[in-house]
Amino acid sequence: MPINLKSLIQILHAKWIGGNSDINIDHISIDSRSLQNGPKTLFFALSGPNNNAHDYIPDLIEKGVHNFVVTQVPEKYTQRANYIVVENSLTALQAIAGYYRSHFSFPIIGLTGSNGKTIVKEWLNFLLSPDHNIIRSPKSYNSQVGVPLSVIAINEKHNLGIFEAGISTVSEMDKLEKIIKPTIGLLTNIGSAHDEGFLNLVQKIDEKLLLFKETPVIIYQKTDVVHSCLTQFAAEYMLDSRKLFSWSFTDKHADVLVSTKETHNENTLIEYKYKNEKSQFTIPFQDDASIENAVSCLMVLLYLKYDSVTIENRMHLLYPVEMRLEVKNGINNCSIIDDSYSSDFQSLKIALDFLESQHKFKKKTVILSDILQSGFTNDELYSKVAQLIESNKITRVIGIGSTISSFKDKFTNCVTFPNTAEFITHYESLDFENETILIKGARSFQFEEIVALLEEKTHETILEINLNAIGHNLNFFKSKINPTTKMMVMVKAYSYGNGGLEIAKLLEHHKVDYLGVAFADEGISLKNGGIKLPIMVLNPETTTFSAIIQHQLEPEIYSLKGLNAFLKIAKEKKLHHFPIHIKLDTGMHRLGFEDNTLDELIATLKGNTNVEVKSVLSHLATSDEEKHFDFVLSQIDLFEKLSSKLLAALDINPIRHILNTSGISNFPQAQYNMVRLGIGLYGVSNDPAEQKYLENVSTLKSIISQVRTIPANDSVGYGRRFMAEKETKIATIPIGYADGIARLWGNGVGFVTIKNQKARIVGNICMDMLMVDVSAIECKEGDDVIIFGESPTVIEMAQELRTIPYEILTSISQRVKRVFFRQ
Ligand SMILES: *Cc1c(COP(=O)(O)O)cnc(C)c1O
Repeated sequence: MPINLKSLIQILHAKWIGGNSDINIDHISIDSRSLQNGPKTLFFALSGPNNNAHDYIPDLIEKGVHNFVVTQVPEKYTQRANYIVVENSLTALQAIAGYYRSHFSFPIIGLTGSNGKTIVKEWLNFLLSPDHNIIRSPKSYNSQVGVPLSVIAINEKHNLGIFEAGISTVSEMDKLEKIIKPTIGLLTNIGSAHDEGFLNLVQKIDEKLLLFKETPVIIYQKTDVVHSCLTQFAAEYMLDSRKLFSWSFTDKHADVLVSTKETHNENTLIEYKYKNEKSQFTIPFQDDASIENAVSCLMVLLYLKYDSVTIENRMHLLYPVEMRLEVKNGINNCSIIDDSYSSDFQSLKIALDFLESQHKFKKKTVILSDILQSGFTNDELYSKVAQLIESNKITRVIGIGSTISSFKDKFTNCVTFPNTAEFITHYESLDFENETILIKGARSFQFEEIVALLEEKTHETILEINLNAIGHNLNFFKSKINPTTKMMVMVKAYSYGNGGLEIAKLLEHHKVDYLGVAFADEGISLKNGGIKLPIMVLNPETTTFSAIIQHQLEPEIYSLKGLNAFLKIAKEKKLHHFPIHIKLDTGMHRLGFEDNTLDELIATLKGNTNVEVKSVLSHLATSDEEKHFDFVLSQIDLFEKLSSKLLAALDINPIRHILNTSGISNFPQAQYNMVRLGIGLYGVSNDPAEQKYLENVSTLKSIISQVRTIPANDSVGYGRRFMAEKETKIATIPIGYADGIARLWGNGVGFVTIKNQKARIVGNICMDMLMVDVSAIECKEGDDVIIFGESPTVIEMAQELRTIPYEILTSISQRVKRVFFRQ
């Protein structure tokens, strides 16, 4: 359904600045990066405490976007576009979504709860899609922004909606309720954990229930606390005419009584009694969470009057849900984005945006199956898909399936195959090389086989890097500095071990002002990878000066010798105002000009036009240690004195900066014009109170290679350092000190996490393997193992090993593959 701006302005009671407002738009966007933005886009400039989309408006106008919802019209661009001026862009987006929703009267399932929402949503979509045209929120789009965007994607052809609502504190659900207006309410697992943002469990449940204020039926697991909350809720909102529809493993008064039996082959048999009739089905899972999620789905099917045979037939096909888009290394230097479990139009848009944000290679291929339920006729659908693919500048399309094959002509540069097997027979002739490949297909096409084929075979240990968490941490530190203070982010040593180019790209998107690396070659590889941000090189060796100039890197100059050498080259090459950074030594005594060399520095620079002092900096030695805070203050004083002298003598006004991560936290008064964020970006703070606000970025993962049980008095590993006191179950993990795990972490000091439980490392850590005691853990070969991440954290490890998180992160060997993902 196209949206007319004229009516929007009325609904929002907003001010219009622009030409004729009788304009239909067909795309709502909040993401300035998206290549899908165009003349028919309405861009909502959202602004958070530390990120303001208004900044992107000039860029967007360049790219052809005409229509914006803003809180402030950018001064110089008043004439260049149309503006709907509102008090709050997010509130406006939500109001429009609510208005839009009110035009549709088909059933809408609203899901909330603490765990399982996304999986239940995906499973319900799978279970119900043979009979419905479903619109659902893509991935976990369940926030104050995600929900309105999901709802606005509804069209006339849909006849069932599934939307999830996630909240993190009180008063958020009210807003989501007005947008979703569910007609079937489903409360998934509520969890017992005390969530930040809520006083207690009851308040958390009460808040979530607000989604169902006007919902005719509420489905839930009948536990004491949930049931009592619901009874009160029903009384308060006068729900007598409505229905509470409950299930339980134990309570015979629940509407549906459920019991389970584990069977072989990792299946579970679920028996249920409903209206005095007993039925059953199996699911291909055994864990408690999957069982509960499947029962949540069962309840919806029962409410929609599905019979037990259909339920049984569909339930045993349930599959693991991949919750996130993941970038994997592919064959022939390709990058693969694996989104092989869904193929609706909405999630295709998201996947294409993600593909664009990677822009690692110019060449982009999309492997796409038939799109099953879309709500459109096939002709409409594939026209829209072709248009989307074109706007995203996709180099080639590989279509798999009979329907997409018959619409091949709509695409430029497209090959098609009738099915996955045909593709697999022919894939070698497609010459995949140096390109990014998005693999996106409906479940039934089994594209996981294509992923397996195109994925580079690596050993099982990976370092996973959560790109969302990096964005979160960056914003946290941005919120700590003044809006005008610039931000340099240190990406030295491969971004503290996490991976250079990918993180630099993310930072470039977030519009940080500078990147910092230790050596020239690090900067060169970023520039070669397409990074446009200015990059400061902390420790430029004289031999690399030419390369630095050639690649437009900016050297930090810390000695007269270095300065003279650089000036000599700068003169030879006839450079004009080439940016350099002057490092002052204020007490760290590592690199930098000291007080007694300042006069000569000034004399050398005075009048020189080959270079320009872009910034003056110094580095703090103890910004993280309270007992040395006096020393920090003396460093800041000295920096003030020396830098002021330099500025005055040269009559220049460069950027000044001295704070690293813990400096930002502890000495906000010394921000000058820029700060240099390092370890904090990667999720580590030296301050336990601040740590709570940061998200974990890196998770080192492996798998179990083998499990065995040894009798009492037997030993494990080199030197027989572990002696079993009793019969002990041992698991071997393929990661060792050559991967960067300190040997001191062995012999009972350290642990890994398997199935959320601690497993102590027993015996000496070997070069490529280590062994753990899993006597108390049910586990088997191939199960996931977490070496560090949420638990143990690198901070805990560092404490135990008497080192610092920096060393642990940067020690992870380059043979460990880095895998980046976004939630
Ligand atoms: C590494 C480094 C930083 C960042 O330090 P963190 O403690 O990681 O924030 C800042 N400035 C310089 C000169 C550095 O070498």
